[in-house]
Amino acid sequence: MNYQDDIPLAKRIRSIKTIPTNSFLRIGLISIGIGVSLILLINKSIFQQTNYSNNSINSSETIENQSLLGHLPYAEASKEELVLFSPGIYVHKDIYETFKEMQFKAAQKGISLQLLSGYRSIDLQRDIFYENKSIRNQTAIERSRDSAPPGYSEHSTGYAIDVGDGNYPNTHFEVEFEQTPAFKWMERFASKYHFVLSFPPNNKQGVSYEPWHWRFEGTINALRKFEAANKIIKFK
Ligand SMILES: [Zn+2]
Repeated sequence: MNYQDDIPLAKRIRSIKTIPTNSFLRIGLISIGIGVSLILLINKSIFQQTNYSNNSINSSETIENQSLLGHLPYAEASKEELVLFSPGIYVHKDIYETFKEMQFKAAQKGISLQLLSGYRSIDLQRDIFYENKSIRNQTAIERSRDSAPPGYSEHSTGYAIDVGDGNYPNTHFEVEFEQTPAFKWMERFASKYHFVLSFPPNNKQGVSYEPWHWRFEGTINALRKFEAANKIIKFK
């Protein structure tokens, strides 16, 4: 006996009608399910991408928030980290031997690499920033292009130095220093000794070009100090 014959006609019709409806419903639900999953997946990847780019923006924003008039905050080196290099000039002990060697190598070619300044305490930086600002009748923003506000100078770390050419003292702290043999030597060999020019022309920090100002990045500790400055160059 046919199984369907047991079911009254009305019910049979209903059941015949309901089967395709159910299948359509099931196919529909599955399609919706796949659709929703796809949308969720796409959304998730877009969200992740947005999140990723937000992160990059955030990290460069954080650096910008930390900076003051283009300068980044630097803690003072401790007394134990500093050594006297020449009368009145202290540097971080990690750069003492390195710079002595640089002077020696340059001298072999008749070039006088002169150390003009090294470590500066935050107090000294305060005097330089505020006194020069009033002597030169400059506003803080104008002065900040040439000098860091106290607490924001690379010199506080002991890893930053100002270099001059002993044979051309009139170019000390002047852009003309870039024409001296000492600068040309630095340009060619400084990276070998892990020194980099902190404020090249048109630098991202917006600080005036300072061909005499170099910072040391040859130790993990030094690299950490200048990580934020290097990120500005990378992200902006
Ligand atoms: Zn300097």
